[in-house]
Amino acid sequence: MISDEIVKRARILIVDDEQANVRLLERLLLTGGHTEVWSTTDSREALTLFSEMHPDLVLLDLQMPHLDGFAVMEQLRTKMSAGEFLPILVLTADTTRETKDRALSCGAKDFLTKPLERGEVLLRTRNLIETRYLHLALKDENRALEAKLMHQAFHDSLTGLANRALFRDRVAHAIARAARGEQVAILLLDLDDFKSVNDSLGHIEGDRLLEVVAERLLKATRGCDTVARVGGDEFAVLLAGLQHHSEAMIVVNRIVESMRTPVPLRGREVFVRVSMGVAYARVEDTVNELIRNADVAMYRAKGEGRGRHAVFEPSMYTELLERLQLEDDLRHAIERGELHVVYQPIVDLASGTVTGVEALARWHHPEREIPTGADFIPLAEETGLIVPIGGWMLAQACKQARTWQLEHPEGLVPAMSVNVSVRQLQEPTFASEVAAVLTETQLPPEFLILEITESALIADTTSVLDRLHELKALGIKLAIDDFGTGYCNLAYLQRFPIDILKIDKSFIFDMATNGGNTTLASTIVDLATQLDLRTVAEGVEHAEQREQLIALGCGYAQGYLFAKPMPADAVQALFGALAVAKTSA
Ligand code: C2E
Ligand code: CA
Ligand code: CA
Repeated sequence: MISDEIVKRARILIVDDEQANVRLLERLLLTGGHTEVWSTTDSREALTLFSEMHPDLVLLDLQMPHLDGFAVMEQLRTKMSAGEFLPILVLTADTTRETKDRALSCGAKDFLTKPLERGEVLLRTRNLIETRYLHLALKDENRALEAKLMHQAFHDSLTGLANRALFRDRVAHAIARAARGEQVAILLLDLDDFKSVNDSLGHIEGDRLLEVVAERLLKATRGCDTVARVGGDEFAVLLAGLQHHSEAMIVVNRIVESMRTPVPLRGREVFVRVSMGVAYARVEDTVNELIRNADVAMYRAKGEGRGRHAVFEPSMYTELLERLQLEDDLRHAIERGELHVVYQPIVDLASGTVTGVEALARWHHPEREIPTGADFIPLAEETGLIVPIGGWMLAQACKQARTWQLEHPEGLVPAMSVNVSVRQLQEPTFASEVAAVLTETQLPPEFLILEITESALIADTTSVLDRLHELKALGIKLAIDDFGTGYCNLAYLQRFPIDILKIDKSFIFDMATNGGNTTLASTIVDLATQLDLRTVAEGVEHAEQREQLIALGCGYAQGYLFAKPMPADAVQALFGALAVAKTSA
């Protein structure tokens, strides 16, 4: 309720042309405890007084010369703000219905009938003042609520940072100022491993991590910068009022530095890595273009490995478009018949016979030159297209192997090695898909070797291990590809049901370039011997490498020295030929 104190201090304005009436009212009000009472007998002054003192209540006579009470009310109405409740208490001797209705429609809130009676004057005065204050209080509350809603509409509730809408608005203003010579930069940041934190530690810890990142961003930036959360794990920073681009890089480095400290979450130390894209506003940029540029730069940063940053350059945009186009093309490559399989022989080093072939994917793009698998397999891996492509490769390769068997009933047909991506291995149905291909093509399982890169084994051990056992149970063989590039040690290797180690090319190159340094290759061969695994050396290009490998006890090899990857019919011609070459050598 409104306290007595407040009611007493309410400002009251009396407008009545009769001096005696004014005196009487003043006396009544003052003796009733009111302290702020103004008055005039000239109704033409009412408006000026009103504007000066902002009364909480007006006592207004209706019959006055020059300007009657109705006209005064008209004037006052122009001074009131929308929705304002200004009590006007009309003094009149005329109590006809018509007068009252007219007064009410002009803004009167209540009436005092002359002659005035003290108790009634004080009571009606008090009632109206109270109503006025209740209105004001309600208005304040509304305003606070409105402000709160406004804040919510433009801020992120978790971190309290600006949201996307506010960020865009600030960027728009900054770009407008940039036209006047000020430098503007925006940074887009994306947490690299946020999903795994969320998945492994839960959403509460995930939120905590986002809060920490928000705090660090605020610390690393200046008060005049805008830090925003623009997506689940995406943040943005607007740097305005820069003298020079180099100042933006200072902030970038401060952010990188600030993220180095691990975040304690559930008793663990979690490292945050952010990828950052930086774009400077050009005068002609729109908000969308500037944000897109930073996005393109961030995409580039991510592509270069995690925890990096990149500054936008126009060439990045065209490259990105090309890449997206290529991705789209790759999506349709199988159905358009653009994919092909080439086969590279794997030879027995001692005899020179072709004992196996590795199936490698090639893409005959209608417009572009894509020479090797290395030129598009990474894209297939990133986009997940490797799953359908790998499935197609497996089916093609098995069909080809079966065809060779039927054409060479006398035996001596090579085993078929097919590369398997970790993405395929992660599919729970992978082993049954392989089984289905074997059934369909009627290829005996012992003729199929699946090559799995060493890094795949390290990445996701438990489910991959299950899958490997399922595959082994089909009767096929398993090879570890690119061996030596990961961190597999003896103990680790023993856990996997594998048959073959393929020594990565880099070790074989080293043998030729490092003055015949065979230490690493030799270690791998020894390891394989201990574990009773076959070894295949990859990338053998020179005769000396072959001799060195034979000396080390490596059983098999693959490389340009023997044959390049080639179409099926060309390989077939080599089935006996390499052995002849060896014996005649
Ligand atoms: P990878 O499995 O290590 O395959 C061997 C790569 O070495 C092939 O490259 C082959 O052409 C190349 N190579 C063979 N001999 C030599 C040599 O003497 N010297 C040099 N410098 N290179 C040699 P390619 O065909 O470009 O394939 C690159 C990678 O792409 C493969 O490496 C494999 O990881 C992947 N890949 C190719 N086809 C497939 C596929 O069907 N599925 C999957 N998942 N990956 C594939
Ligand atoms: Ca391979
Ligand atoms: Ca390899």
